[in-house]
Amino acid sequence: MYQAIFFDLSGVLYTGNAAIPGAVEAVAQAQRSRLAIRFVTNTSRRTSNQIIGDLKNLGFDIPPEQLYTAPIAAKQWVKEHQLRPYCLIHQSIVPEFSDLDQQNPNAVIIGDAEENFCYKKLNYAFQLCKAGAPLIGIGCNRYFKLDDQLHLDAGPFIKAIEYASSSTPIIMGKPSADFFKQIVATTGVSENSVLMIGDDIFGDVQGAIKAGLSGCLVKTGKYLKGDELLIQEKFHIAGTVAEAVNLALNQVREEPD
Ligand SMILES: [Mg+2]
Repeated sequence: MYQAIFFDLSGVLYTGNAAIPGAVEAVAQAQRSRLAIRFVTNTSRRTSNQIIGDLKNLGFDIPPEQLYTAPIAAKQWVKEHQLRPYCLIHQSIVPEFSDLDQQNPNAVIIGDAEENFCYKKLNYAFQLCKAGAPLIGIGCNRYFKLDDQLHLDAGPFIKAIEYASSSTPIIMGKPSADFFKQIVATTGVSENSVLMIGDDIFGDVQGAIKAGLSGCLVKTGKYLKGDELLIQEKFHIAGTVAEAVNLALNQVREEPD
């Protein structure tokens, strides 16, 4: 039996400003169950408190201790390594990093900076990394869906700096196995009894499987027809998160179809 469910947020619980039909009830049902619940997101345009508030407005009741975000993981990493990061991040999460020493930077953090991405700033990030500063990525997603359109996420920009500087990025957030394992460790269950539910075939499903978890792809959010053919690993497929929760709560864990 599965002993924990990890939920991706965007595209699984909501798209744009609307909850996906059945998602509020499905999450509440999962939270009432015996399973450990975690919400795992690379969302890097909102602080943790803002995310919890946004979800509350949509009807989701998420306790702070169940939320694991990539920006917080990245921040934790530079703190543990006592580094001073140059933060190329979204304007809205700048406050979440304001307590870090960012003078004379010796590390680079790149997230989904949106309008903050420009040649001058990317070039500065390149120069720091070329000189040896570690490159930390907040997630490495290729794109995300907003207002019915796909938009560039942090991944392509991280890859650009990686390519130019020949550095190896440290990815905090999905699909990093270390990120998944850190969160599994907070549940007290083993990796192979965790089901990760997501709409990103690479970041959510393949990333989770590579970390030893099971994956379930939902056909909402950024899902595009044919995504299920893009990876070789075995995983579950569900129409929506409600169907995925049902699967997790009722199915004896076995090899996915
Ligand atoms: Mg998603």
